[in-house]
Amino acid sequence: MTNKYMYFIANWKMFGGLNSLNSLHKIVKFFKTFKKNKSIKIIYCPPNILIRPMSKKLKNSKIEVGAQNCHENDTYGAFTGSVNSMMLKNVGAKYVIIGHSENRQSGENDRLINLKIKSALNSGLKVIFCIGETLKEKRKKITKKVLNLQLRKGLNKIKNNRNIIIAYEPVWSIGTGLIPKSTDLSDTIDFIKSKKKKNKVLYGGSVNPKNIIQLRSIDNIDGFLVGGASQDAKKFIDIIKKSFN
Ligand code: PEP
Repeated sequence: MTNKYMYFIANWKMFGGLNSLNSLHKIVKFFKTFKKNKSIKIIYCPPNILIRPMSKKLKNSKIEVGAQNCHENDTYGAFTGSVNSMMLKNVGAKYVIIGHSENRQSGENDRLINLKIKSALNSGLKVIFCIGETLKEKRKKITKKVLNLQLRKGLNKIKNNRNIIIAYEPVWSIGTGLIPKSTDLSDTIDFIKSKKKKNKVLYGGSVNPKNIIQLRSIDNIDGFLVGGASQDAKKFIDIIKKSFN
């Protein structure tokens, strides 16, 4: 393992309102009493409107907060509807997810992703950089080629930055209930680590309390990015607990 922490990152996507924060006491209580809490990091990435109130609720809990995307501009500007990394940091974010396939699908390319990563690092945020192949690319057996290109272009001119966590998220696995075969996943994580020796590499895609035992048995994974299942505190706690069974 390349790090001392196992990461559990909750991506709430476009879900949640102020009332969704009421369930956070469950995770705070769990984390406080969990025996392995020194070896795990929990990070919640809610919609931007919840970053501030969530950070307040999680104060002193050691659970951190991140955002789900940012604008590439370092400074303020005339970009209606956008929020940059400096503004996210200002309201309590410590991390930001960049390159999520749901944003790539709506037009973000590797060059833009690279600019966003640079801007986020400049603002002092840690980056959760998502990469992954589509089903078509998997069928064509070009997964490694695709990942290599995403890594090369997304991290262009960014050297050895430990503030970047890579999340391998096969597009065909997100929200579908499908996960890669253990041998394939282990091989892909090894491949990413061979290219980016200093970065932690997480897995994301349909992680749930049932498949976590199989996923956790793959020993080169440094943690998990959890979408749908993280919106339910009980399920998210279950995922963490079962990871240490
Ligand atoms: C995600 O959105 O990053 C994700 C992994 O989603 P899900 O767990 O719902 O597949």
